[in-house]
Amino acid sequence: MTTADLIVIGAGPGGYDVAAARARAGERVILIDYAFPGGTCLNRGCIPTKCLAASSEAAIQARNAAALGVSVGEVMIDYTAVVHRMESVVEGLRDGVRALIAPCTFVYGQARILPDGTVGVGDQVFTAPKVLIATGSAPAALNIPGAGLTINSDGVLQLEELPRSMAIIGAGVIGMEFASIMNGFGVEVTVIEYLKEVLPPFDKEISKRLRTMLTRRGVKFVLGAAVTAVTADNEGVRTVSYDGKKGPETLQADTVVMAVGRRPVVPEGLAEAGIETDRRGYIVTDARMRTTRPGFYAVGDCNGRLQLAHAATAQARVALGEDVNLDAIPAAIFTCPEAAMVGLTTEQAQAQGVNFRTAKALYSANGKAQASGQADGLVKVLYAPDTRRLLGCHIVGAHASDLIAEAALAVSLGLSLDALTTITVHSHPSLSELIASFR
Ligand code: NAD
Repeated sequence: MTTADLIVIGAGPGGYDVAAARARAGERVILIDYAFPGGTCLNRGCIPTKCLAASSEAAIQARNAAALGVSVGEVMIDYTAVVHRMESVVEGLRDGVRALIAPCTFVYGQARILPDGTVGVGDQVFTAPKVLIATGSAPAALNIPGAGLTINSDGVLQLEELPRSMAIIGAGVIGMEFASIMNGFGVEVTVIEYLKEVLPPFDKEISKRLRTMLTRRGVKFVLGAAVTAVTADNEGVRTVSYDGKKGPETLQADTVVMAVGRRPVVPEGLAEAGIETDRRGYIVTDARMRTTRPGFYAVGDCNGRLQLAHAATAQARVALGEDVNLDAIPAAIFTCPEAAMVGLTTEQAQAQGVNFRTAKALYSANGKAQASGQADGLVKVLYAPDTRRLLGCHIVGAHASDLIAEAALAVSLGLSLDALTTITVHSHPSLSELIASFR
């Protein structure tokens, strides 16, 4: 049996960051994973999709370049080069993670929790006073006939060539990102969503505006439709059947992507070791990420709190005793343009009976947005009528994922809209002025 100070199961953002920090601080840290370090985020999630998003956006900008007085020829996509670039970015960042975790003992294999609270990998056994489970999630699939004819987000990242047409089941974060990316590459995209509006967790006004922007670019949306089956003909063309507003309907596409959420991935042996999971399989944790077995913590996608890479990293720091505010975690979606949010949405504030007002700033009134040809966008804030404290900020428009950081800080610190313009000054001309335009 090998004894350590900390065992971390899963080398994604929930695992590797704290493992490396603790090892650098002199603790004996065992980090276990059966795949490349970096987890879903680096290997099959955030980073590769952002590479595709960057290539797609370059194509969109090239098509729009004439509006800025720059003429380019016909825009051609060399998808082999796109994929090659994506792979080399991922490989480069993997090297970075490998260097970061060098002070840890990395154990390659599948960890299981043993009933006595030790951790097994093959015939090796490890023990430590603290065990952090950060095993992540995997794509979920609808249990419908023909589900095997669809690909999930992992499959999209493995495509070697672009399909002519793509149907995407689910207009959540993954469905919307791939819709935007593939549309930029010239693929005919149709998104089929069960709910009445896309991007369920976002403020409805932002979701609607983003949908309108993508519709103008040629993405088709079928809302309020439940997909019931997928079939394929001899040429491999897929037919998606769905119950829509007017009854049963179908549409055809070369490729069908299933993007209907993710399910938890957890190590074997949890129940026998006294670590509870909920009915969906997520590990039950308290606010400090403690599981139902003392000494065991669960962070990131596997605890079902918030499926975001940066939330996993922050939760891991909380689990190990750091004081990190988990109440104002921003979320961003890397469509073109991006959308981002922090704090309460209008729908949440209404449901919770919170007294609030809203204010909006249009990108079209911002000098930098106009100058750079990115004038389509909106910043919407929710604030308390009496104190003008910022309760939530919602953005759709260029660089939303970067702009949201300042709003997240303001929500976290309980700042008012006025404080955003008095405790600091924003450079001009810049998109950051949008956040400071609510005097
Ligand atoms: P999601 O839960 O965000 O969205 C799934 C969508 O599928 C929902 O809108 C749902 O209504 C719809 N749906 C379900 N059943 C359907 C049916 N039968 N027919 C049509 N539509 C149906 O899930 P996701 O987009 O797969 O993302 C998974 C997780 O990964 C999310 O928690 C997300 O936050 C995370 N993620 C985050 C980012 C980011 O932060 N940029 C990027 C990718 C993924």
